[in-house]
Amino acid sequence: MPKLNEDKEGIRVLMMGNEAIVRGALEAGVNVAAGYPGTPSSEIIENLSKVAQERHLYVEWSTNEKISLEVAAAASFAGLRAICPMKQNGVNVASDFLLHLAGSGTRGGLVLVTCDDPGALSSANEGESRHFARMIEIPLLEPGDFQEAKDMTKWAFELSEELKNVVMLRSVTRMSHASGMVRLGKLPERMVKAEFKCRGPLLDQETGPVSSMPVVYHHTLQQEKLRRARELFEESPFNTYEGPEKPELLVITGSACTLYCREAIHLLGLKDRVGLLKLGTTWPLPPKFMKKYLALTEKILIVEEVIPFLEDSVKILAAEQAAEIGIKTFYGKNDGTIPMVGELNPDLVAAGLSKIMGAPYASMDGEYAKEAQEAAGALAPERDLTFCPGCPHRASFWSIHKALQLDNRKGFVCGDIGCYSLGARPAGFSTVKIAHAMGSGLGLACGFGKLEAFGMDQPTLTVCGDSTFFHAALPALVNAVHHEANTTLIILDNSGTAMTGFQPHPGLPINALGQAAPQIDIAKVCEAMGAKVVIRDPFELEETRATINALLEEEGIKVLILRQICALSPEKKGKKSHTMRIDESRCLGEECGCNRLCTRVFRCPGLIWDKEKKKSRIDEVICAGCGVCADICTSGAIRREEPVSV
Ligand code: SF4
Ligand code: SF4
Repeated sequence: MPKLNEDKEGIRVLMMGNEAIVRGALEAGVNVAAGYPGTPSSEIIENLSKVAQERHLYVEWSTNEKISLEVAAAASFAGLRAICPMKQNGVNVASDFLLHLAGSGTRGGLVLVTCDDPGALSSANEGESRHFARMIEIPLLEPGDFQEAKDMTKWAFELSEELKNVVMLRSVTRMSHASGMVRLGKLPERMVKAEFKCRGPLLDQETGPVSSMPVVYHHTLQQEKLRRARELFEESPFNTYEGPEKPELLVITGSACTLYCREAIHLLGLKDRVGLLKLGTTWPLPPKFMKKYLALTEKILIVEEVIPFLEDSVKILAAEQAAEIGIKTFYGKNDGTIPMVGELNPDLVAAGLSKIMGAPYASMDGEYAKEAQEAAGALAPERDLTFCPGCPHRASFWSIHKALQLDNRKGFVCGDIGCYSLGARPAGFSTVKIAHAMGSGLGLACGFGKLEAFGMDQPTLTVCGDSTFFHAALPALVNAVHHEANTTLIILDNSGTAMTGFQPHPGLPINALGQAAPQIDIAKVCEAMGAKVVIRDPFELEETRATINALLEEEGIKVLILRQICALSPEKKGKKSHTMRIDESRCLGEECGCNRLCTRVFRCPGLIWDKEKKKSRIDEVICAGCGVCADICTSGAIRREEPVSV
C-alpha cells in the first residue's frame, strides 16, 4: 500500500477510513502499534505492519486486547507514541487495564482506536465503546469523514501528550471500511529514543513510578485533565456548524452519521431551515460552544449510532444551561424519531426529519419495502449462511453432532466467537446452543459441569478456535482443571485467525510482520495444565466421532484438538487433495433412503442437487476437494478420485 507511506504533502488520495487512521498515526510519528484482530478494526494493524520496516515501527498482533493496550502503554511510558486499535468487544477485554491506565496517566501520546459495529455486521452484538470513555473518564473523539479520520488521529496523539492521558478515537464500520478522499500531510523524521524514567518523585508523572495509586490524588488529577480537555474542545476545529443563523431545527450529530444527516437535509431541501452541528469531540462536550448553538432554536434532533450517548450528554448540558438558553424540545432515539438499534442511513434520518419538519419526503414506504423483499426472495438464489466448501468446521460439527446423538444424554455444545459460531446454524447442524464472549464457552461449561449436585446430568462440550484459545480460553482452562470440571474442550485448530483474515497468533511460527517467531504448542500447554489431550484430523469423520464419544464417557477435563488448516488459508487455497466424482449409477437420490443427506443435511456448497437427473453432482469450480462428503454418503456414490494439486 505505497500511498500510506507516500511522502508527498498536499496530494489527495482515496483512502479507506482505517487507512486514513493509519496515515494520521504515521504523520504523528507513531512508534508502536499493538492490537488483536476484529472486524472492523483489523486493517489498522495490518497496514501499519506493511510499512513497519520503512517507518521504523514496532507492530504486533497481541494475544488479546488487554495485552495489546498494555504493550502500547509501555511504549507511552517510555516516551514513545503508540496506537492500539480494537473492535467494540475488545474494549470490554481491555477495560480492566484501561481503568488503571486512565488513573496512572501516560507520557508519550497514546491513542486507543475503537471500531464499533452498529448493526452488528460482523459482530455478535452492537455494543458501544463510547460509554467506556465516560465511565473511565478519558476524552473521546469521533471523526465525521475520512479527512478527519486522518487529521483527528494525528491530533489525538498531541492531545494525549498535552493531557498526559490516553485518548479514545471511535470509528464505526461505515467510517472504517468506506473510502473517501484524504489530503496527505507531512511524514515526520522522528527517531526518538525510548527510555522509562523511573527514579523521580512518587507523584511526578514524567519521571516517577507509574501507577494509579495513590488513587484519590490520581483520580483528582484525571478529572483536571478532563476539565482541560473540555477547555481545548471549546476551540476544536472538529466541531463545526453549517446552516442558517436562526434554524427552525438544530441537528446535532457526529461520526459517519454526519454524512447521513448532510444527505438527508439535502434530499428534503431543508438547508435554509435546518442547522447541522457536527461534533468531533463528543466527550466531554464543550459547554460554551454548545450553549452558542443550543440557544439558536427550540427544536433539537440528535442523530447517532447506536444508543443515545450524545443525546443524554446534550440533554444534561441543556438542563444545566436552561436558564440562559430556554426550554428545548428534543427529538432522537428516546422519542423514537431515530431507531435505537442498528445502523442508520440517509433514508432513516430523512424520515425522522420529515416527521419533525412536516417536509414531504418519498422515503421507502412499507409497501415498497414489502415489494422489494418479495422480489429479493423470488429473484435471488437461496443462500443460507454457511461454511466454505472444504471448511474443516463442517466436518468437525458433523462428528460432534453425531457423537452427541449417539451419546443420547441431551448433551450440548457451548460455543465461542469465530467462524465456527455458524455451528449454531444449519451449516453446523445447529450443534452450538450457547455463544457469548470469546473464551466464555469453556467458562460456561465449567459452570454447567458443577450442576450435578442439582440433578443435571447432561454432558457438555465446548468449541473454540486456536486464536480464541490464546485470547481468552486459557484462563477458563486453568479454572476447569483446577475445579475438576467434567467437560471436553474441542479446539478447532485451523492455523490462523481465519475469520478476520488469517492474522497470526502465538500458535504459529510467524509474527505480525511475517517474520519467524517462537511457536507455542497448544497441546503441550493443555497437557502441562493437567488436561488429557487428544489430536485428530476432523476430515477423518468416523475416528473423530468415536473419539468424542469415548471422551464423553470419561471424567474430568479433556481437550480434543481437531487440526486441519482452513480451506481459505493462503497455504491451502486453490489446492485440492482430491478430484471428486458422483457415481450416478450408485446415487439413487430421493429413492435410496438417504433423504439426500449430502445436499439436504451436509450441505457443502460444492454439492449440488441436479433437479433434471435427480442425482447429486459436484460443482467442480467451488469444490475444495477435501473428500469428506465421500464418507457421509451411505451409498458410496461420492468418490474420491486421484489426489491432485491444482
Ligand atoms: S450422493 Fe449419496 S448422499 Fe447424496 S443423494 Fe446420492 S446417495 Fe444420497
Ligand atoms: S469434497 Fe465434498 S465436502 Fe469437500 S469441498 Fe468438495 S463437495 Fe464439499
